[in-house]
Amino acid sequence: MGVRKKTLKVLFIASEIAPIVKIGGLGDVLGSLPKALFKQGIDARVLIPRYQDLNLKVKRSAMGSIDCSFKNSTHRVRLYESHLARKIKLPIYFLENFEYLTSGSPYLKGKKNLERFIFFCTAATCFLERWGFKPDIIHLHDWHTSFIPALIKNSPDHFWEIVGLPKPKIIFTIHNLGHNPVVKKKFLKDLNFLPPSYLETKPKSIDFLQTAIKDSDIITTVSPTYKKELLKDKHKKTPKISALLKEKSHSFYGVLNGIDTSYWNIRKNRYLPYNLKISTRSGINKFKTKARNELFKKIDLENDKPLFIFVGRLYHQKGLQILIPALEKLLAKSARFNIILLGEGQKEIEKKLTSLAKKFPKSVHAEIKYNEPFAHLLYAASDFIIVPSLFEPCGLVQMIAMRYTSIPIVRKTGGLADTIIDEKEGIVFEKFETDALLKAIKKALSLFKNKREMTSIIKHNLKRDFSWQHGAKKYVKLYIRALSVKRKDL
Ligand code: ADP
Repeated sequence: MGVRKKTLKVLFIASEIAPIVKIGGLGDVLGSLPKALFKQGIDARVLIPRYQDLNLKVKRSAMGSIDCSFKNSTHRVRLYESHLARKIKLPIYFLENFEYLTSGSPYLKGKKNLERFIFFCTAATCFLERWGFKPDIIHLHDWHTSFIPALIKNSPDHFWEIVGLPKPKIIFTIHNLGHNPVVKKKFLKDLNFLPPSYLETKPKSIDFLQTAIKDSDIITTVSPTYKKELLKDKHKKTPKISALLKEKSHSFYGVLNGIDTSYWNIRKNRYLPYNLKISTRSGINKFKTKARNELFKKIDLENDKPLFIFVGRLYHQKGLQILIPALEKLLAKSARFNIILLGEGQKEIEKKLTSLAKKFPKSVHAEIKYNEPFAHLLYAASDFIIVPSLFEPCGLVQMIAMRYTSIPIVRKTGGLADTIIDEKEGIVFEKFETDALLKAIKKALSLFKNKREMTSIIKHNLKRDFSWQHGAKKYVKLYIRALSVKRKDL
């Protein structure tokens, strides 16, 4: 094969990495997969934008700064570096540019956001061309990095041949096809960063992910079921991408995400008042009671009913449009349970949650913010987590919940279908309808009365392995495959 794991150099490029900057599951994956690979002996490194106010000290890299051409002028870009954690010497690089990358919050609104990440693609490629570190593999994540494959493909060979190596192979991971900008080619033309061949043909608009998929060597997505759904265009939004993925199906893989099990750990956790000592019924009860008591000090509900939670970004994808009416129906009939919802996102969904909490102040608490310590407490204290997603590429919240003794109620879609077996590991419902979810919640309420059954599901889930161990091995195989096969054969 000629390529050995030991010598593999993999550069991850993305928009988030936990715990430095995290908005959702993408950040979790970047904070854990490279770490798992690093522990398996791969030279894994990560490159992200240097946003304002990062949660980490960084130092100027010896590599210094370069001038990068974009929108008909040159822009100074500086490289900074740090490590993921004191004990884990996995290098993380940050690109700084005050005009495009280093001001405001990580994600901006509208065209400013698109310009930010298109500039990031350009600046990252500029650095890669001039950098002494030449990765074998560039592993890209989601639309923010969409133009890097095209830019590398069209980058002059002499930049890559200085160390006698060919251009790196490119793996592109689709985390969520729901986020895929489509813009007029004129908009990209004005930014003057792509070769004219990408912009002169029909149609008039350009689809970010389609461009990335076309020019990448291997494409992956974050669960086997989401892969199938994308190939079938199950969500009826992306026929062109489905067709393209079908065309490239021999190099399209579904690898289930893992989580950082040393961070999402109830045996050693600084956010919880009490850590789990033993996974017996009484050990679990003690753990949950302490977490529950701590949680109810912070909120104005009575601690005497089964507790359901929702944790997630408040967007259409997450299924609040069936969750809110299901809760209203049940609570109007005075079903006895509490629900705490934690999330932020679209303003109209935030408002709906706030008014639900006002309407049922004895049963509903809405926490409209991003609050990581509170999330840990919720996972530990709750009896059930509801994940009613319209679609869910992988979903990490259900895996985290299971490691924290909360039983998932999930819709059978994407990674939720791959991670939960109905009745054995949680409650699974199929139709994206209020009544189907309502039935699932009622099922949970009757399960709650059967303490023996509850404990047996919790104990089973606690033993499950959601680490990156297996997923990282699969990625190493894909990296080796990408390197061993000629570009046109992939
Ligand atoms: P997605 O990738 O669509 O955001 P995932 O289920 O894959 O959904 O991952 C969500 C991650 O973000 C989890 O780590 C979850 O705990 C975290 N999270 C989401 N919303 C919040 C919030 N408001 N406060 C704290 N953590 C949150």
